[in-house]
Amino acid sequence: APLDDDYVVERSGVSITATDIIGEGHFGNVYRGLFTDKHGEQIAVAVKACKNSADRSTAEKFLEEAYIMKQFDHPHIIKLIGICPDTPIWIVMELARYGELRAYMLNNRQHLSLPLLTLYCYQLSTALAYLEAKNYVHRDIAARNILVADYDSIKLADFGLSRWIEEESYYKASKGKLPIKWMAPESINFRKFTAASDVWMFAVCAWEILMMGVKPFTGVKNNDVIALIEAGDKLPIPDNCPQRLYRLMLQCWSYEPSKRPNFVEIKTQLHDICEGDAKTYGL
Ligand code: ATP
Repeated sequence: APLDDDYVVERSGVSITATDIIGEGHFGNVYRGLFTDKHGEQIAVAVKACKNSADRSTAEKFLEEAYIMKQFDHPHIIKLIGICPDTPIWIVMELARYGELRAYMLNNRQHLSLPLLTLYCYQLSTALAYLEAKNYVHRDIAARNILVADYDSIKLADFGLSRWIEEESYYKASKGKLPIKWMAPESINFRKFTAASDVWMFAVCAWEILMMGVKPFTGVKNNDVIALIEAGDKLPIPDNCPQRLYRLMLQCWSYEPSKRPNFVEIKTQLHDICEGDAKTYGL
């Protein structure tokens, strides 16, 4: 799917400075910048630069993420603004002002209330229900791939691993660096990635959120995690996690993929849990 011209932006409309590095991606640095659109409106953006843009195959791989992002329009998914297709290739996207969720949670523990953490999980489930409806599997749902736009708004990012799947089919991944500790057993065993395996990963990510940035299975080797999952071990209930939310996570961790809820069901349940919080905490 080539980018149509609407997605090409003039480099002169994008201003970044070399010192405004906010992250390091697989292909190069990510900068904070300002984008001026054709009506003269300015918005804060994140600009991903591709170091080896001159190499065609690198450039193609780099742009793949932009091709994917451009098809989505959801309040909890980072939006593509455009690309500058000539070297150095830039991907210009909406800025998540507060950066990575894990770092944000680790630095702001005292300000993170249970209703807020539940809200983050709910927002993520709405993004994933949207992707589910479009037949996309993300394949890398983890707190490290979530960004914070505002203290009460998170956004899913990093579509480097996501793939469109035909109904009833699945994407067979090749071996490589895989996020084993987040993966469903059928993904680990058969490299099978489906909407149902995204559901499993979502629950691991929700667990990280309720744990305020603690990673799952810390100190356990990937190989040993596989044995734990096969033995039916589950991540423990986080302190203060509502029973209802933990029960939902356990359903998402059903060994049998067909026994897991889908994202529409998860979204509905989380909405109810958030409402319950609102009553309890008088929000
Ligand atoms: P990797 O393969 O290591 O995940 P990547 O090429 O997918 O890297 P990202 O993880 O998307 O790159 O970006 C690298 C970092 O840049 C992020 O971890 C984050 O800190 C920052 N970043 C990326 N996009 C944004 C954005 N839209 N708003 C704010 N920060 C961003």
